[in-house]
Amino acid sequence: MENELKKLKEEAHKLLGKISDKGDAEEFRVRFLGRKGRFTQVMRSLGDVARENRPRLGQLANQVKKEIEEGFEKQISKLLQPSTSQMDRPDLSLPGRIPPRGALHPVTQIMNETCEIFESLGFSVAEGPDVEQDYYNFEALNIPPHHPARDMHDTFYISESTLLRTHTSPMQARVMEASEPPIRIIAPGKVYRNDSDITHTPMFHQVEGLLVDKGISFADLKGVLTIFIQKMFEKDLALRFRPSFFPFTEPSAEVDIACVMCGGAGCRVCKQTGWLEILGAGMVDPAVFAQVGYDPKEYSGFAFGLGIERIAMLKYGIDDIRLYYENDQRFLSQFI
Ligand SMILES: [Zn+2]
Repeated sequence: MENELKKLKEEAHKLLGKISDKGDAEEFRVRFLGRKGRFTQVMRSLGDVARENRPRLGQLANQVKKEIEEGFEKQISKLLQPSTSQMDRPDLSLPGRIPPRGALHPVTQIMNETCEIFESLGFSVAEGPDVEQDYYNFEALNIPPHHPARDMHDTFYISESTLLRTHTSPMQARVMEASEPPIRIIAPGKVYRNDSDITHTPMFHQVEGLLVDKGISFADLKGVLTIFIQKMFEKDLALRFRPSFFPFTEPSAEVDIACVMCGGAGCRVCKQTGWLEILGAGMVDPAVFAQVGYDPKEYSGFAFGLGIERIAMLKYGIDDIRLYYENDQRFLSQFI
């Protein structure tokens, strides 16, 4: 019997190492430890051995059984935790995963920056409706029906008297109509024109500025715009005023800044001129004052309108306005 036990132990030991799944384990258990298993069979022969040897053999049998059971348990627990290798263990010293962060659209960023700069100069923000009356968009701004300036606007009409505003200038008339000077406001918002190419989109963003008080001159306009340009581009860029025409300002000017790329020396971006057109401005036309009941002899003021997409294009060196509205993450993630 002693030999039987030894054989049983060796056999079990050999097979233990081969257990690789549940099926193997169950087979092993039935074969060695089950009620009709090998161990039970060997124990049956205990009754045949001499009485004096029984205690010793009984003890030996128990020891062998215990060894087999322990080996079996160990193998099972190995099966339940198959991947304890270094590779699969979590490395607690690694830094945490940072979830991707959203950011403001470049147009929104420049819009916010523009408002902040003018607010720091004492302007307050006045917002108006996107769906506007023909009266505020045109007539109150000295653009009567059949005025040729209407042709430049490519207007989306909703009805004969309502339209999608073509500029933020209607806020000039709305604010002056509702309040008395002094006035110092900016009107940011979306504007709409039926126009689409590499530098135009049917919807874009403008910021209108209006300052009305006693004794306001063109020098004040130049001063305010100079500070704005310096703060926006973080550079001491020269400004140039070219005579122009807007029905609601007189005199009117197109304002250029020294090229942000070459500083005025001439390059591809400024088409070798050294200058970049950035906004339109002028002194409020007395006819507009008359429309809202201000005395042009007592008050004067200036107005300006700038395109946010245009400023963002110049600031970030973007050459196609349509990139702003394609929502390509590769483009947008550059502005985080
Ligand atoms: Zn240039």
